[in-house]
Amino acid sequence: MEKNLDRIREVIRGNGNIVLVSGSEVTRESGMNGVRAEHMVYDIEQKYGYSGEEIMTEQFFTRQVEVFYDYYKEVVLGAREPSLTTVYRAAAELEKRGKLTDIVTRMVYDSYREAGCDHVIMLYGTVEDNKCPSCGKVFGSKYIRESKHVPKCDDCQIILRPGFSLFGEMLDNARLTKACNAIEYANVLLVVGTHLNSLTWQSMLRYYGGDKLILINTRENVGDERANYRAYGNISEIFGYITDYEE
Ligand SMILES: [Zn+2]
Repeated sequence: MEKNLDRIREVIRGNGNIVLVSGSEVTRESGMNGVRAEHMVYDIEQKYGYSGEEIMTEQFFTRQVEVFYDYYKEVVLGAREPSLTTVYRAAAELEKRGKLTDIVTRMVYDSYREAGCDHVIMLYGTVEDNKCPSCGKVFGSKYIRESKHVPKCDDCQIILRPGFSLFGEMLDNARLTKACNAIEYANVLLVVGTHLNSLTWQSMLRYYGGDKLILINTRENVGDERANYRAYGNISEIFGYITDYEE
């Protein structure tokens, strides 16, 4: 394993234009459930009577907005802010050194930006970008979390729209194009915390034609053998090591 990690570290040391693809295990490591919360499917069904994928849809938002926002507050946001793990901080450091070009993520939390990264493409949008559909005023996650009932614009009293795409909605085309371009022109593609067979990533990763696809994840999955380099275990530990990050 050590030898393997050293080989990956040499690739990172010796190359620029690295693009980071950040998956749900990175989010999980920071203590957050994500929108889908696939690791707590059973609990969610018990509590809400629906799955997260059913609740986080336009239809549900229109018909049962109270349940929609209960789920948003309790599952998507939870009791606390995401912790800034080594992955986020090491990514910021790598960007500062001019080696990391872009970060592409499905995550809806602004952790990379909070850690100091400037080039973050958030495919689904963010929990910090909830909007009043009438006046366009933006409300962050804190406002949602602290709303006693369904969150409304403090000027118009109109129910806010979540800042991220709902299931079944089209993704923002500009963001999608930007992400595909970043992946296509990447020298090194560093995929962290997801498996390569996930539908979103499968369609995007095929744009990468290089021979430096590095995969870091908690455990092995079917389809991983397409990566040129792989390592499994504690994501933050591995990421810190291969990027020469010092706490
Ligand atoms: Zn308003």
